[in-house]
Amino acid sequence: MPAILRAVSKSRAPEAAATEASGLLVEGVTKSFSKRTKQGNGVLQALEAVSLDCARGSLTALIGPSGCGKSTLLRLVAGLETPDAGTIALNGEPVTKVRARGDLGIAFQDPALLPWRTVSENIALPLEIVGRPVAGLSSHIATLINLVGLSGFENSLPGELSGGMRQRVAIARAIVTNPSVLLLDEPFGALDQILRRSMNLELQRIWMGGKTTALLVTHGIDEAVFLADRVAVMKSRPGRIAAVVDIPFPRPRPESLFSSEEFHRLCDRIAGLLHG
Ligand code: ADP
Repeated sequence: MPAILRAVSKSRAPEAAATEASGLLVEGVTKSFSKRTKQGNGVLQALEAVSLDCARGSLTALIGPSGCGKSTLLRLVAGLETPDAGTIALNGEPVTKVRARGDLGIAFQDPALLPWRTVSENIALPLEIVGRPVAGLSSHIATLINLVGLSGFENSLPGELSGGMRQRVAIARAIVTNPSVLLLDEPFGALDQILRRSMNLELQRIWMGGKTTALLVTHGIDEAVFLADRVAVMKSRPGRIAAVVDIPFPRPRPESLFSSEEFHRLCDRIAGLLHG
């Protein structure tokens, strides 16, 4: 059977059994928000009974229509929101514990750099927040700057950088503590297609260098298929995971993968799940 068909036939029910190897385990998570309408106050069911089991060191992409609850799920995993029901564990621990020791990295679409701090100082910020001594870590920060292709810009301010460069600073900042879990919410959403593609290659390289469990929210089917081990397809009203598709391509995945027939067939399959 061609790899593409094997991948699709392995699409499985979202409620996969929890394993010891879970880097991120979401079980039966429900979240609603209160909503004010002309008729009065109502409830918006943002997520209903969402379960997702991500193996340690895997990269899972979340894809779905606008408003289906992708960011809400990411914010719940990050501990920025609390579920109404269900549980979330990172490496078997609650997020509050993981975050307190800097074991969780987060990057959003808006890089949100501090404009008065240099590239190095922005990247070092999470170390300061968790109380790790930055002074002894200058070579670690220099390695990271090199990894994201910003050597020579250590002392630049965010205002002196392009959008793509600022986004790379945000990625370096997200991984500066060597987190075991990395959450990325449309990190390249504001970039043009060419830059996005080179950032995809770069993110793969960075992620492959560590043992990080990553959850990536994206609107791009091609970005999801290129980067992820599994793509979770979400549906809205209420937000839920409708299917999880395994992506079989070996790593490192070359840029030429974007134009391969197998890649396009898998993208089409996921588009069908999204719009079907
Ligand atoms: P997505 O990331 O898939 O576009 P979101 O997670 O941002 O979707 O939103 C899911 C739904 O929950 C949307 O209808 C949104 O309006 C609603 N929502 C998200 N956050 C809040 C909030 N803090 N208060 C009220 N409604 C919210």
